[in-house]
Formats: sequence, C-alpha cells, structure tokens
Amino acid sequence: MADRKVRVRFAPSPTGPLHIGGVRTALYNYLFARQHGGDLIFRIEDTDSTRFVPGAEEYIIESFKWLGINFDEGVSYGGDYGPYRQSERRDIYKQYVEQLLASGKAYIAFDTPEELSQKREEIANFQYDASTRGLMRNSLTMPSEEVNRLITEGHQYVVRFKIEPGRDVHVDDMIRGDVVINSSILDDKVLFKSADQLPTYHLANIVDDHLMEVSHVIRGEEWLPSAPLHVLLYEAFGWTDTMPRFAHLPLLLKPTGNGKLSKRDGDKLGFPVFPLEWHDPKSGEVSSGYRESGYLPEAVVNFLALLGWNPGNDEELMSMDELIRLFDLGKCSKAGARFDFVKCRWFNHEYIQKADNRLLAEQFLPIVREHGVDESIERVEKVVEMMKNRVDFVKELWGLSSFFFIAPDSYDDKTVKKRWKEDSAKVMCDLATLLENLDDFSLAHQEEVVTKWIEDNNLGMGNVMNAWRLTLVGEGKGPHMFDISSFLGKEETLRRMRRAIDVLK
Ligand code: GLU
Repeated sequence: MADRKVRVRFAPSPTGPLHIGGVRTALYNYLFARQHGGDLIFRIEDTDSTRFVPGAEEYIIESFKWLGINFDEGVSYGGDYGPYRQSERRDIYKQYVEQLLASGKAYIAFDTPEELSQKREEIANFQYDASTRGLMRNSLTMPSEEVNRLITEGHQYVVRFKIEPGRDVHVDDMIRGDVVINSSILDDKVLFKSADQLPTYHLANIVDDHLMEVSHVIRGEEWLPSAPLHVLLYEAFGWTDTMPRFAHLPLLLKPTGNGKLSKRDGDKLGFPVFPLEWHDPKSGEVSSGYRESGYLPEAVVNFLALLGWNPGNDEELMSMDELIRLFDLGKCSKAGARFDFVKCRWFNHEYIQKADNRLLAEQFLPIVREHGVDESIERVEKVVEMMKNRVDFVKELWGLSSFFFIAPDSYDDKTVKKRWKEDSAKVMCDLATLLENLDDFSLAHQEEVVTKWIEDNNLGMGNVMNAWRLTLVGEGKGPHMFDISSFLGKEETLRRMRRAIDVLK
C-alpha cells in the first residue's frame, strides 16, 4: 500500500455553479497530486437527475481552466478509467448492487413514501436500521416468491445497505486522525433506486473510487458524516486493502460571526463566492465571480491555498510551484478557516505588482476605450507601469489615471486655492517657454533642465511642481511630474499649460 500510486479526484455534482469552497477542495487535490507525481481525476457525480442544472458542468471546467488547475483525466480530459460521468456508468453500478444483494450485505425494500412517513409518525426518531427493518416491507421480512412477484409486476423498490449495529467504525483521516463512530447510529442507506435504475451518491462514489484506483479522498468536512458508511461499504465489497485514505478539509467560515460561509455573506459584504460569474438558467439571477470582479487567478489560488493550511512560517505569497512544493495535507487545520475576503484583495494587489504589464494593459485597454479614448496598447501599458502600485484591481486604474488620456476641463477648487499662487501664471508661462525650446523632451533631459532652472531662479521646487501639476492633471494627484509630462509629450503638455493659464488667470 505504501508504494501505491497517488490518484485523487475532484467529484462535483453539477447542481449549480462551483462554490469557492469546492474550488479550495479541488486546489488541495491538485497540490497533493502534483506533489506526489500522481494523477488528478475530474469526475461528474450526476446520479441525482432531479438536481441537475444545465451548464454547471461546463462552468466548472471553465473555472479550473481560468485558475490553472489542470486535471490529468476525467470528463472533457479523457483517460483510461472512463466514462467519468456517473450517469454513463449505470451498468457498472448495477453489477455491484447485485453483488451486495447476493452476499446478503444489502436487501430490497418496497416501502412507499407514504408507508415511511406513517412509520415516522408511529415511532419517535424513526430510522430505517437494525431495530426497525424487521417491521418493514422488505426482502428480509417477506418470502422470496413475494419479493420476486412484486419486482416482476413492476413495483418500485430500493436497495438498502444492511448495517450491522454495535460496531465501532474507524475512519483513518489524515487531518483528524482516527475518527470512531458506532454503527448503531447509522441508518440502512439507500444504495439504488429501481425508479431511475440509478445508484445513490454513496454507492456510485465508492464503486468509482475503487475502480478508478483512487488512493486518497480529499474533500470538504461536510462529507465526514458519510465516511463511516463508506468504510463499511469498502468492507462489504471486500476492498479494505485498497481503501483510500481520507482527508476531510476544514469548513470555510463566514468573514465575521459564526457559521459557514454562504452566498448571502458575499452579497451582504460585496465579495463573490463563485470563481466565475454565474447566470442561473432558471431564475435568471446573476451571481458575481472572481474573474469578472477583476481578480487575477494566481491571487485567488494563493488566497484559497491558505484557507486551512499554511507553510508554518510567515510566508504568504507563493506561486503554484511553491505551493506544490510546500503543501502538506497532514498540516491542515481541523478548525474552520475564516474567509477573510479583505485579504483576498491584498493578494490581488500583490499579484498585480508581479503581473506582466502588457497583460494588465490588455485588461485595461477596453476600459480606456469605453471612455471614448483611442489609445495604443503601448501607451496604456506605460500608464499601467506608472500607476499599478496604487490599485488592487485593474478597473481602479481609470479613476486614478484618466488625466493621462483626457485633458482636464476644470480645475479642482481646493487645489487651486492652495496651489495656484499669485505668481503661478507667470511661472507657468516661463516654464512653458523653457519646455517649448527643448529639442529633447525625454524624462531625464526635462528633469535636468527644469530642476536647474528652478534652482537658478530660486523659484522653489514645491511651488513650481504643484502649480504645474494643477495645469496638467486638474487636481493635486498623480505620479512624478516628469512621468506625466513625458507621457503627454511636448505638444499636449504645452497645450494643457496654456489653457490652465488662460482659465486660472
Ligand atoms: N459529489 C460530491 C460533491 O458534490 C463528492 C463528495 C466526495 O468527494 O466524495 O461534493
């Protein structure tokens, strides 16, 4: 078992958009697989047709493409263990249901929903298990001819797992250690339904993990209660030797207060809980996504990786390769991880600083164009380079840097009062003349000449720069003055200065 090849899977049910917690689960599976040179499988668990949502599967695949989480096999990836969509594996499951029936580990039950709810009324805390199954209509209480007759006549039935009571079931969990549950509290779970000829989640999940040679099951804490049942199913099939090891990841908690992270927290506090924007096909409701909100995929990955795990030091910024190297499933926390969305914004800021300026410019260009400005990608890239250290999101660039593209048509009152002195008009006139006579309008040359001129004439650096800024920007913000003037070029710089002198004097 020690030298078993690492094979892990992410197995969502296509019931809607992928929640950010699901993304974290997939990421941890990915990191674990890559770290061990193993395989990552993408399986679609769609045996509950009533909960199927069109578009969900495509959405999930696109989300992982965006995030850079690549699978080795599975739906849309192919592989030797397919099909990877459970709805295409009906025949496989049937044969395993038969096996459990033949060995007496499962039985057939005919109880109708009405009969079941009646029992629930008669018996307090009714549970279909060893203490009650003798009172029900099933193949344990009915003669086999009767069972066969009902089946032949087309009566609906389910197959239930026959759980022996009074046994301590051990779940070996890499995060939680030895989790022990007494089998008496478990009910005889439905494994198969004749109505749609489909297995339930539990059976399909176990059979597939076995057939796909899954070595580790890494999934959310909400699946921990199912784990004892899964262990018993492995036993019932005689597969204990190849049973995967479990790791149940900590819950994602609300940013503040108690309880698990929900979509409502996101709506209330203004952050997405889905990787991509989601258009609900039924209600038409649109939910925001990290991608459309302007997050870089690397930032989202880094942020999520630290929700429930950390490298044991203060290091926070880690590339995917570093995460793969440092990740340690055994060091994940048992306690829930608080979803600190403000921190995610910080990560985005950091990743914008690391990001290629051309790539950011490509995202910024459409925003510039939306404002009616026709600029080249090269010029937009220059602005990105000058301004990106001030933003958390690319879209914030416009508010801070529109003056590069559009000349001010008015001048901020407060700044005028503070910065436009009595002699400002004259000083700006002289500066304009000085600049006009420059053949070399490069940043370095301008800086040299203008600085010398200010010093020679004892004009005061702050005095000149503040007034100059007002003429070019219209207010008191922006980067280094010579960055602005050399970006604008001589003609535009002089045009803006002369207009300001006209208006303000
Ligand atoms: N289909 C389950 C889900 O939607 C899979 C749980 C598991 O990984 O076993 O999360």
